[in-house]
Amino acid sequence: MTRSLGGAELATTIRDDASGAAAALADLGIRPRLAVVLATDDESTAWYVRSIAAAAKRTGILCDIVDLGASATTGQIHGTLVELGHDPDVHGIILQTPLPDGTDLDALREAINPAKDIDGANPVSLGRLVARLPAFAPATARAVIALLDHHGISPHGRTAAVVGRSTVVGSPVANLLVQRNATVTVCHRHTTDLAAGTRDADILVVAVGIPGLVTAEHVADGAVVIDVGTTATTDGRLLGDVDAQAVDGRAGALTPVPGGVGPVTTALLIAHTVDAAAAQHAQHAQHAQTRSDSVLAGFRSGV
Ligand code: NAD
Repeated sequence: MTRSLGGAELATTIRDDASGAAAALADLGIRPRLAVVLATDDESTAWYVRSIAAAAKRTGILCDIVDLGASATTGQIHGTLVELGHDPDVHGIILQTPLPDGTDLDALREAINPAKDIDGANPVSLGRLVARLPAFAPATARAVIALLDHHGISPHGRTAAVVGRSTVVGSPVANLLVQRNATVTVCHRHTTDLAAGTRDADILVVAVGIPGLVTAEHVADGAVVIDVGTTATTDGRLLGDVDAQAVDGRAGALTPVPGGVGPVTTALLIAHTVDAAAAQHAQHAQHAQTRSDSVLAGFRSGV
């Protein structure tokens, strides 16, 4: 029997903790604010953004949806990101994909202020993550690790396979698993024999976007399978990358889609925004202290 690794309970705990931290910030006159920048008509993206806004509201933080429209240019999106990066009332920024064809996603990711990069999209955040320095990890990658922890599954000393190597999910997940002392194989679209790369893994993370890609032949007996994939169907369903029926009884545990990685990701985006607001407040307080110290030093020295 395959155990279901749901994410709802963990998501609630993360949101409750964030809510407490947001209330403490409110006592200091700070209201964490998240800005989600989007430029698409895509209905599943709109649905995802609405779920972030709803989670923000439940947690007591502000969420602005900055919809630039499906014909926005790189210049317009870039200008908006820079403006939000300088706005002292905005603490977290998400650049939602997909973006209009032809936009320069790399340049746009670099335009996100790293202090507000709560979904780890700026290459600076990713570099710091790999260098094991403090940084916001992409929320989905962190959600995978948080789910394992929540369900008492340690990657330490285990073999893991990650299918997908995007900079937002696959690559950071693989890196976080290595940091947690797993031995990791990364598979991608050019992997010639996917099953050979995955079928011995104790932990299998799939982040591709092809419904049903992973079947019983890809899964070791008793493996823990984390399905990150989400593909929206025209009739409103959300499909994972793993054929849940095919791996049932073979996998030891499997995350459901929906209800697994997704709600934890959303909760972490909110928690990261609260953390970013607290960090920015602490930094401002420190600057103010340094300024006042140097003014006092000036008085003392007669400058
Ligand atoms: P992406 O398109 O950027 O990357 C897909 C990856 O899959 C690539 O690295 C590619 O090499 C690999 N790939 C493609 N075909 C393959 C094949 N046949 N065999 C092996 N690997 C193959 O996608 P992404 O942004 O990394 O997202 C992956 C999936 O995760 C999507 O379904 C996305 O919707 C979902 N997602 C879910 C959440 C969540 O919170 N649950 C968050 C982000 C993304």
